Amino acid sequence: MDSDLLIIGGGPTGSLSALKASKAGIPTTILEEHRRIGFPSHCTGHLSLTGVKRLELNVPKNIYENEIKSAIFYSPSGRQFTIRFPHPVTCVVNRELFDQHVFNLASKAGAKTFTGTYVHSLIIEKGYIKGVRVKRDNKTEEFRAKIVIDAEGVSSTILKRAGIPTSNPNLMVKGVQAIADKIENIPEDTVEVYLGRSFAPGFYAWIVPRRDGSAKIGLAAERGNPRDYLHHFKQHHPTALQRLKRSSIKTHVYHPISLGGPIRKTYYNGLLITGDAASQIKPTTGGGIIMGMTSAKIAGEVATEAIQTRNYSASFLSKYEHRWKRKIGFDMKAMKHLRLILNSLTDKKLDRLISIYSRLGMEEILKEVTDIDFQGKAFIHMAKNPRTLATALYLLTISFF
Ligand SMILES: Cc1cc2nc3c(=O)[nH]c(=O)nc-3n(C[C@H](O)[C@H](O)[C@H](O)COP(=O)(O)OP(=O)(O)OC[C@H]3O[C@@H](n4cnc5c(N)ncnc54)[C@H](O)[C@@H]3O)c2cc1C
Repeated sequence: MDSDLLIIGGGPTGSLSALKASKAGIPTTILEEHRRIGFPSHCTGHLSLTGVKRLELNVPKNIYENEIKSAIFYSPSGRQFTIRFPHPVTCVVNRELFDQHVFNLASKAGAKTFTGTYVHSLIIEKGYIKGVRVKRDNKTEEFRAKIVIDAEGVSSTILKRAGIPTSNPNLMVKGVQAIADKIENIPEDTVEVYLGRSFAPGFYAWIVPRRDGSAKIGLAAERGNPRDYLHHFKQHHPTALQRLKRSSIKTHVYHPISLGGPIRKTYYNGLLITGDAASQIKPTTGGGIIMGMTSAKIAGEVATEAIQTRNYSASFLSKYEHRWKRKIGFDMKAMKHLRLILNSLTDKKLDRLISIYSRLGMEEILKEVTDIDFQGKAFIHMAKNPRTLATALYLLTISFF
């Protein structure tokens, strides 16, 4: 089967690339292994409102599960640091409905869609990617194209099979996401972040409330079984214990998060790599939807230009990497440094850091941040304030001892 552009994966990034190209009149096909788009959902769907607005997706109201004004960070010993905005800054979306919405937009714009279609490997001829081999209804078939966009997500199985370098395994954490009903003592518009090696080594745990009295809870850890850590968190964290004492916890879904920053190269002859497959995920928070979709939009645009000018070479497609790096490259680097510093801190140092944040009144400075996705640029803005510099210096110093 032939198409000009083939997209591997009907997740949010694949569908957005397809939407962009289809709108520009490029014959596009999405290949998705699951029959039901967005299911099973492994993700909290916590997104910045500015990021969602920038994507121009006209997200229907029923997809929003909550809007958030406030975040509380807990140190390992239970010290707190709160930041509260006068208006909502983030939202929680139903990931299954969100993925289906973007997929349907691509389909309405003209993209052909094949679900239940597992892409096994890339077809490579004379150094160019020319399509993919798929398994569908127990048969093996070939789909050919001028350009392939790989949006297969974090597993990157197809890239590994082709010998293409993928994300840094040393900064991969194992995540678990679950739904807790009947949560207590937490304001509806507040997310909670729990730091500490004993509860979530190499990352953090979270409680994100929904308007119906339930919450998405989860954590990720660099070692061990995340389900055991979640159980330990629920039973032993003094604050989580209060929040979750009457809750039953259902629907555990497991999925890795790549915190090592973007992969080294995201373009080859006839191939672009986007979203989690390119590790375009914030190394600080593990949020990949806005960063991945920002890049996926560019991938769709560059693939369109390549097909229109009939130039599928890596040198032409390198425009994609130049453009996404211009948008998010600096912030990704800054966030990776911050992640490495955070990973180096012991629980005792995290306790001290949270105290310093509260004492210096950092919440007032953080409130001035208008775009939470771009944490590198936000830091530069905040650095004008001496209190930020004092904290940064303190952070750097304690990470060395
Ligand atoms: C526990 C957890 C919580 C998270 N919470 C948040 C959050 O609150 N906010 C946020 O921004 N990010 C969050 N993330 C990250 C976010 O889920 C990802 O960044 C996002 O899903 C990336 O989108 P994607 O389209 O690149 O990949 P995916 O959403 O993984 O989509 C990839 C698609 O490709 C399909 N596919 C894979 N292999 C093949 C194949 N061989 N053939 C055909 N199809 C294939 C898959 O079925 C899937 O539909 C979280 C991640 C985890 C693990």
